[in-house]
Formats: sequence, structure tokens, C-alpha cells
Amino acid sequence: MRTGIPPAATYCMAVVFGGLGIYMLLRRHGPNLVIGVRLPWTLADRHIWDKSWRLGAMFLVGMGIGALISWTFFFIAAAHLIILGILYPVLLYRLKYGTLRFWKDQGWADYRPVVRCEHCGHWQKLGDAADLDGCTCEACGAICRRPRKFWPPWAG
Ligand SMILES: [Zn+2]
Repeated sequence: MRTGIPPAATYCMAVVFGGLGIYMLLRRHGPNLVIGVRLPWTLADRHIWDKSWRLGAMFLVGMGIGALISWTFFFIAAAHLIILGILYPVLLYRLKYGTLRFWKDQGWADYRPVVRCEHCGHWQKLGDAADLDGCTCEACGAICRRPRKFWPPWAG
């Protein structure tokens, strides 16, 4: 395909992005400063972090393959990575906790979730994501929030 880009640059891009994507599919890191979708909503919930990681990895592989096919594919994959990479964890978080609120303790990554009671609307700070299980509302005493299922196969 004629793109006007030297083939060497194409292969470099494919190797860099595809390689990073494959690496991310094979290995998974916990929240860190260097790599991953670093948003308050992913840092507050390890499960959402992992899912965003996997989604990001798939789009990086897509960018690698896209670079070999055409730059149009490459930029479509890149745009998806950026837009969905942010929207996806935000949506997951909203579905899981009923709010986009979070709270932060000391340190760069010490974001913690907040759950919104689905009965009375009370916002409640959680120590971490695991506290959502069996959480009862401080205001009305009901179960904070029942778990929601999310449709994509990688959502688990
Ligand atoms: Zn309540």
C-alpha cells in the first residue's frame, strides 16, 4: 500500500506499538508511574486497572498491525486507544460505584473509591475496592450497591 512513509519507519512503528501491546497482554503490572491507564478511577480499583490494561494492550496491538496495513488504520486504533482508554474505566467505575467520585489519601497513587448508596444516595468512602462487598450504607443501613454486570467479554 502506498502511504509515502518509508517502510523502515512503518516496521519500526509496528514493532514498537505491537511489541508493547503484546508485552502488555502477556504481562500485567499493578498501578505504577510508567505504564498503564493512570486515572483516579483506575488507581482506586485494581480490577478496573486490569481491565483498562487489557483494553489498552489490545489497541496497541491494533496500532502495530494498523501501521503495517495503512496509517489510516493506525490512527483509527490510536484514537480508539485514547478515547476508549479513558471512557472505558470511567464507565466501569460509574457502573460499579454509582458515582465518579473518589477520594485520595497521601501519596501519588493512593486513590480510593467512593460508593453511592443506591437507596438513599449517600456517598460513602471505601478503604479499597474489596470493601464494596458487604458494604452497608452509613446513612440508611441498606446494602450500598449490588454488583453490575458489564457486557464486553473482556469485562469479566
Ligand atoms: Zn443509604
